[in-house]
This record gives sequence, C-alpha cells and structure tokens, in this order.
Amino acid sequence: MPYISTREKNPNPVCAAQAIRAGLAPDGGLYMPQSLPKIDRQTLCSLAALPYAQRAAKVLGLYLDAYTEEELLTDTRMAYSVEKFGENPAPSHTLPDMRILELWHGPTCAFKDMALQLMPRLFSRALVKCGEKRTALILVATSGDTGGAALAGYRDVAQTKIQVYYPTDGVSAIQKAQMRSQEGKNISVCGIYGNFDDAQTGVKTLFADSDLNTVLDKNGVFLSSANSINWGRLVPQIAYYVSAYCDMVADGTIRCGEETDVCVPTGNFGNIFAAYLAKCAGVPFGTLVCASNENDVLTEFLCTGTYNRKRPFHTTISPSMDILISSNLERLLYLVAGADKTAAWMCSLAEKGEYTVDDETLCKIRETFTGLCADENETRQTIREVFEKDNYLIDPHTAVAVCAARKYKKDNNAHRKMLTVSTASPYKFAADVLYALGKTDAPQDEGALYALRDKTGAPLPAPLSALAGKPIRFPACIEKEQMRENVLTFGTESV
Ligand SMILES: *Cc1c(COP(=O)(O)O)cnc(C)c1O
Repeated sequence: MPYISTREKNPNPVCAAQAIRAGLAPDGGLYMPQSLPKIDRQTLCSLAALPYAQRAAKVLGLYLDAYTEEELLTDTRMAYSVEKFGENPAPSHTLPDMRILELWHGPTCAFKDMALQLMPRLFSRALVKCGEKRTALILVATSGDTGGAALAGYRDVAQTKIQVYYPTDGVSAIQKAQMRSQEGKNISVCGIYGNFDDAQTGVKTLFADSDLNTVLDKNGVFLSSANSINWGRLVPQIAYYVSAYCDMVADGTIRCGEETDVCVPTGNFGNIFAAYLAKCAGVPFGTLVCASNENDVLTEFLCTGTYNRKRPFHTTISPSMDILISSNLERLLYLVAGADKTAAWMCSLAEKGEYTVDDETLCKIRETFTGLCADENETRQTIREVFEKDNYLIDPHTAVAVCAARKYKKDNNAHRKMLTVSTASPYKFAADVLYALGKTDAPQDEGALYALRDKTGAPLPAPLSALAGKPIRFPACIEKEQMRENVLTFGTESV
C-alpha cells in the first residue's frame, strides 16, 4: 500500500516502512495511505473471539503491508505482553451513562504506551527493510507523558538509542521519577534548566545542525524523532478502537453493526484521528466528540471553521492537552478537502497563525466531529461526581472527556451508546485528583500516591508503586547550551 504526503508536493509514493522510518514527509506534510482499507462486518465481529495482540496484528496488517503477518504478530505479542500490560491491555469500565475505555495499563500508566510499546518495534524493522545500516538516535523533548512512554518503548530495541530532555521544574514529581529511574542499556535522560520551550527549541536546533549530523553520520548514527506525527505511532491506536467495539459486541452492550458515539480527550488530535480511521475502516462509530480543556482551539474550529492559535496558553491540570497546534488535524483536512487546500491552510497557519476552511469542508467534518470543552472547575467537579456517585476514580484528562460526553448527551438527546476514552491512570496526577476530591493539603511529591490510595482505595498501579524502590540512574541536569555536547557524547559512545 503506497503512502503519500498530505501536501502531495513530492510525487513518489513510499511504502509503510519508509513512511515509518522517515516520520515527516520531505515536503513537510504527514504520511497517509493512498487509499483507506475496509474491514467487513463479519471479520470485524469475528475478531471478538481473539486476544488483544491478535486483534491488533489483524488491524495493523490492513495498513502495513510492508510487514508480514508473522512479524506483526510477534511485535504485538511482545509489546502487549501480560508482563507489560496485565491480562487485558485495553479493558473497559461501565458507568450508568457511558462506557469507559481504559488505555493506561501499560508501563508508564498513560495511553501513549499503547502506541509507544509497539512503534519502536515497527521502527527498528523499518530500518532493516529500508536497508538503513546506521543506528537511529531518537531525540525527545518532553513536557511529561511522552518522555516516559518513549523511554519505556525504545529501551533495548535493536539499532536504536534514545535520549530524553525534560524541563527540570516543568514535569510532575512522578513523571520525573519515572524518567530518571528508567532501565535499559540504550537510553539517556537529562534535565534542562529552563522551560519546555527551551528543551524543545534545543532539540529542534540539533536536528537542523548539519555539522552535528555529519559527525554523527561518520559514527554510523542519525537523528530521528518519536513524536505523534509518525504513522507508526498512529496505526497502533486504530487497533484499540476496533478492539473496544468487539468487546461491546461480545458482552452484549451493543448488537454487531449498532452505532456507538466516541468521546476522546484531545491534544495533538492523534488519538481521535485513530478513532476516525477506525470509522473509515467500517467500525460503526457515530459522532466523534473532540473534548478539550481551557485550550479550546479545536472546539472553536469545529464550531466556526476558523483555526486560530493566537490565543492565551492556559496551564491546566490536564497538561497533555495543553496544546495550541494540533498537528494531526492536517490528516483529517487532507482526507476531507485534498492536498492543495491542506497545504494552503498549513501555510497560512505557519505564516499568520490561523486559517479558515470553506463551508463545504466544515460541513463534512461536522458530519462526524463535534467539539466540546471543559474548564478547570468542571473538570474537578467531574472527578468528584464520578467518584462519589459511581465509586470510580478518573484522572483530569479523562474527566475533561466525561464532562464533554455528558454535555453532548444532554444537548443532543443522543440515543446511541457512548464510548469515552480514558487516557491516564488517576495516580499519575495524584495531587490534582486529591485536590478535586476536596483534599486541599495533599502532598505534591510521590507521597500523593499513597494519600490518594488511602482516601479512595483504588488499586495503585504496580509501575508507580515500584518507583519508590528504584535507584535514580539519571540525576543530571544541564544548561541548554550543553545539549549539543551531550548528544554528541551519547550518540557516539557504544552501548
Ligand atoms: C497525549 C495525551 C492526550 C492527548 O492525545 P492526542 O493524541 O495528542 O490528542 C490526552 N491525555 C493524555 C493523558 C495524554 O498523555
């Protein structure tokens, strides 16, 4: 299956392995399959009989014909093993008014594990398939969840090394402890004195530094990234939507073929776009509710057709959704309006900070998508309500989605079932969750884990309770000017 860029400026289609190896297309666009595959109803419902790794391998096979069935099954079994995810990598919880899909049972307790446990395996195979002999050095700047999940995913993966930079005062105590104690031979972690922008700008500068890249190349190393615009990170996410639908059919929540709505807490638009791809493949999804926090750029876009990133940036208790440029929206625009219009809108976004789509495009998008947002008070109130009424503990990102799903149901008198995606363990944001539950003197450090457990009795995930006993392997913190030297040292040393 050929892959092309959303901006279609480069004429040559590439195979799935090349798209995964490259990440971004040479014209600055994102890779998409030239046509979208379909899965018929009978095949879809027959997947319900299979365990998660097999379901995922089947779904991946629809999109990744550069990989054999056997390769995909080996990779999904390794990625979603019992040791890493427990018995069920993507279980559901039933609330009176909706179904919750829990995607945080992986090694770092956030949904990014679902993609980042698998993508490095697809990536290292892609290197072999493309004849790439050099080692990939994955450079990551993180404001929290991505760093930990990328480290856990790339650890000890063939032909790769990974180095993560985080703002030393800009991540939570738990996120910091996770990264600094991460095991694996091919990894490196370093704090930066500065904010997330300093770390990200530093990394971007290094990608563009031709002298650095030449020296690395002489040592058989090239730089690569692990961010969510890579097709290899998107395609594993389609699998859990298919799987969740199968589970709802299997336990009688819906009939095979019955439509269900889906609500997703959204930042970079990767997760909800995977739901859309599942719908395009034939999974009977109705409306996709795009839930945002106070950074409501997508809510406004889905309402008015204008995407405007020139707005105040809000720091919220759902930090992984504090995003003003939702990169994967480009893929939706491409599918709905084509490459020429998409390229023009992206150009306008880069130059003027905004763009407005035509009525026809907006209309088509709104046939499937609705945007709703929740402010900080509504988010905290939702955490408290769901805990007090339903005895179920959710994290702030999930709470934004539950709040949006309830608004949608109220406004639309919706008759369909709702599947709401839960993207992080509440323990990952223990201090904020405690505050929402009314505990105003909660500890801000790892002590919050135990305070939350004592207050709620919800099971504390093993990867988080294990943190306390783990030695800090990477205590270093450097000035941003030292990043280049640091990359060079790690890139050229043998592991
Ligand atoms: C990354 C993240 C999101 C946002 O997902 P996108 O694919 O970027 O839209 C939501 N919740 C959590 C906990 C995350 O880590």
